Amino acid sequence: MPSPAASFLSSSPSDLARAADLLRTGHCVALPTETVYGLAADALNPAALAQVFTIKGRPLLDPLIVHVLDQAALAEVAELDERLALLAGFWPGPLTVVLRRKPCVPDLVTASKPTVAVRIPAHPIFREVLRLSGRPLAAPSANPFGYVSPTKAAHVSDSLGARCPWIVDGGACTHGVESTILDLSVPGRARLLRPGPVTLEALQAKLGPIEVVTRAVSQQIAQDAPGMLERHYSPATRVELFARGAQPAAAVGKVARLLLARRTDLPVGPEDFYLSEHGSAEEGARHLFDLLRQLDARGFDVIQAELAEAVGIGAAYNDRLTRAAAR
Ligand code: AMP
Ligand code: MG
Repeated sequence: MPSPAASFLSSSPSDLARAADLLRTGHCVALPTETVYGLAADALNPAALAQVFTIKGRPLLDPLIVHVLDQAALAEVAELDERLALLAGFWPGPLTVVLRRKPCVPDLVTASKPTVAVRIPAHPIFREVLRLSGRPLAAPSANPFGYVSPTKAAHVSDSLGARCPWIVDGGACTHGVESTILDLSVPGRARLLRPGPVTLEALQAKLGPIEVVTRAVSQQIAQDAPGMLERHYSPATRVELFARGAQPAAAVGKVARLLLARRTDLPVGPEDFYLSEHGSAEEGARHLFDLLRQLDARGFDVIQAELAEAVGIGAAYNDRLTRAAAR
């Protein structure tokens, strides 16, 4: 049975004006970004933010990312850091930076921490809604907490149904995995809290050495709740991992193989699904969540998924798959 319908809005000027009005008056609207679809709400309105947590079933101690149009708007919610000038080339884009917060930011956004995560997104629809609403927008992924993030408008309605009444359809997301998170909240220290489309290598070329923290540590920094989110981005179907180009272990039952490149050397039996033709980790990341959702709906006993080489965006792809496989 399909769940009760959400209303889809288009990218027409009148629909985007409607979306901005809804946000200004305290409602939540799902919007496309270049990473995944976000469930947007006015980041300065606690009642609107409370709805985000309710719709997603997200724990209140998990802080939200604030999206703003430009550096001037960023300076209204966060203390600027001189290193941001070195990162200007990544914005607008899929890079989130953690900075000291300004007092106007509600505790619901920051989980009552002295820091706030901010991003200047690149997606033209999201930017137009930011401009029309005139508000900073908090926008966690538009899915039930812990499940696979949405990369198409239909993913949002499939998993949130009428709990999310308005969805702006902007087609498929370009990157398909969530933003890179870089912590610059302490002067002189840079830490990578989450790998993403802006790669560690690209950031280090601008900033010099960056400390890479484990998932458990990044959770502790964000939430004081170590281990709680180890399992995340998870389909209901069990996921097992194998190294790039390796042979997956023999498995019993109805098995799907999720492969980064087309392969002819594997034993027959499992059904094969390709994320890219030639092993591009960019393409793998772009299609990963869509394919995980499709496979999750098909009653497999196990999904055997191929890891990428852990460089560039391969690090983000591996991070999301590893979390999908955690039990
Ligand atoms: P998302 O689920 O993509 O909306 O990203 C939210 C994640 O950003 C949280 O789960 C944290 O891991 C991280 N985050 C947000 N705010 C902060 C913060 N103030 N300090 C550290 N990490 C944060
Ligand atoms: Mg999420």
